[in-house]
Amino acid sequence: MSVLIFIDQAEGHIKKASYEAMSYGAKVAAQLGLQAEGVVLGASKDDLAALGKYGVQRIHHVNNDALNHFDAQVFTKVIAQVVEKTGAQVVIFSNNVDGKGIAPRLAARLKAGLVPGAVALPETGNGFVVKKNVFSGKAFANIAVNTPVKIIALNPNSFKPEEGTGTAEVVAFNATVDAPKVKVTSTNKVSGEVPLSEASVVVSGGRGLKGPENWGIIEDLAKALGAATACSRPVADVHWRPHHEHVGQTGLAIAPDLYIAVGISGAIQHLAGVNRSKVIVVINKDPEAPFFKAADYGIVGDAFEVVPKITEAVKKLKGIA
Ligand SMILES: Cc1cc2nc3c(=O)[nH]c(=O)nc-3n(C[C@H](O)[C@H](O)[C@H](O)COP(=O)(O)OP(=O)(O)OC[C@H]3O[C@@H](n4cnc5c(N)ncnc54)[C@H](O)[C@@H]3O)c2cc1C
Repeated sequence: MSVLIFIDQAEGHIKKASYEAMSYGAKVAAQLGLQAEGVVLGASKDDLAALGKYGVQRIHHVNNDALNHFDAQVFTKVIAQVVEKTGAQVVIFSNNVDGKGIAPRLAARLKAGLVPGAVALPETGNGFVVKKNVFSGKAFANIAVNTPVKIIALNPNSFKPEEGTGTAEVVAFNATVDAPKVKVTSTNKVSGEVPLSEASVVVSGGRGLKGPENWGIIEDLAKALGAATACSRPVADVHWRPHHEHVGQTGLAIAPDLYIAVGISGAIQHLAGVNRSKVIVVINKDPEAPFFKAADYGIVGDAFEVVPKITEAVKKLKGIA
């Protein structure tokens, strides 16, 4: 009997969100008096035994070449085998793209209750109740899960990874792996940038920047801070920025430690994707811009004057030329 955590990888390296899921899963296991175990699919370039530091006692490694590329259907069937063989009672995913692809499929396959978007540890004193975000982060719901197997998809950046000591036992898991129904023929990788979904600092630009030629001020600040760049939807719609940078209700939902919004009005649909950020800084020339209501810090001013000054100050502070 265990709590099983899906340890998600990108190109053989463990994703940041998986460290959060492991620490969270270890805490759930401790609450229930169960062992925390992990499952890794495909080849890994990282030291899996070292993941014991995050509270995982055993890792089931399905090292099969067919699992080196993500395929939600294939991954689901393999994880289901691990759950059935190990008798896992709770399965933890990160609520990222991969987790969103697998968790509902696994729930259907195992007839398990699923809580997507969990933001806190479950209450286990009387039943099993998990707190999650609803209405684009405007409210919380407490969901009671009554099925024998319970699945939780943890919102990225809602649980801090805790590093302790310990080594995990890594065991090879022999699974039946289906041939994927889709084939990855090529990958166009954006290199040299901080991935938006994993970034702890994000600098985001809106229509107030007037045009794509002005994005240098956003990129310079992001570079100085080691941040990812994002944008509002209209900016992506008119191709000033690529679509993968669009955040909001219809784009990516992010929860960085710091979100800096430049020339963005703060429409409800935009806020829906960023309101879980720990600290929000808004730079807007209109003091009535709605975004100021959601901001922790606000600067009323012209982005073209304010942003370069902040970049300069950050560089000075960090000793960057
Ligand atoms: C169904 C639906 C889904 C949507 N989904 C999303 C979504 O996922 N994400 C999203 O972002 N939007 C979404 N939208 C669009 C959303 O309603 C807003 O229209 C959009 O967020 C506005 O983008 P913006 O703030 O960049 O532009 P604007 O609303 O035009 O605001 C520009 C801001 O820049 C400021 N500004 C202008 N010049 C300067 C300057 N020199 N310096 C500083 N500030 C300046 C202005 O004061 C203004 O506040 C959605 C809309 C609908 C109907």
